[in-house]
Amino acid sequence: MEQIGKILIDEEKIMKRVAEMGTEITRDYQGKELVVICILRGGVIFMSDLVKQIKLPLYMDFMAVSSYGMSTKSSGIVRILKDLNEDIEGKDVLIVEDIVDTGLTLHYLVDYIKSRNPRSVKVCCFLDKPSRRKVDVEVDYVGFEIPDKFVVGYGLDYAQKYRNLPYVSVLEEEDL
Ligand code: 5GP
Repeated sequence: MEQIGKILIDEEKIMKRVAEMGTEITRDYQGKELVVICILRGGVIFMSDLVKQIKLPLYMDFMAVSSYGMSTKSSGIVRILKDLNEDIEGKDVLIVEDIVDTGLTLHYLVDYIKSRNPRSVKVCCFLDKPSRRKVDVEVDYVGFEIPDKFVVGYGLDYAQKYRNLPYVSVLEEEDL
């Protein structure tokens, strides 16, 4: 049985950092046609807080890709479960992800989105585990760098649980 361990990033810290990121993105996207693409389901809590801090007109779209299923290890196989609703050709795309771990998911997604001919593509991640990287991916905005621990909360799940926690916690389980 798994259980929630200590809080790694509390709610106050998250809100402060998300506001800073929103300010930075607002500055960088002046006069551009911003499309924020949320990667479901993990990115949804971060995305909804972040867009409120971006003081620009923007579009929102959503993609869903297969993740680890019920396990906590990456398979490296990425499958699109839900594609974009809108055409992004000529637009300035910002991909919003919950966490970059091995980088495999993001590597695939960036290539896929580039094949739709946007004007620009940048990546915004709530969490980054740089020590686990297997492929090189450029992440333009990072909320927090974290150590190599499996975390839950603020959108991140374990077997679809814990996404609604307003903070980030380490998951403790014997078989992880
Ligand atoms: P990557 O392809 O970079 O290895 O994995 C990206 C995806 O794996 C993330 O979008 C997330 O769904 C999942 N993931 C990676 N690390 C963690 C973690 O510590 N906790 C949770 N809940 N999911 C993770």
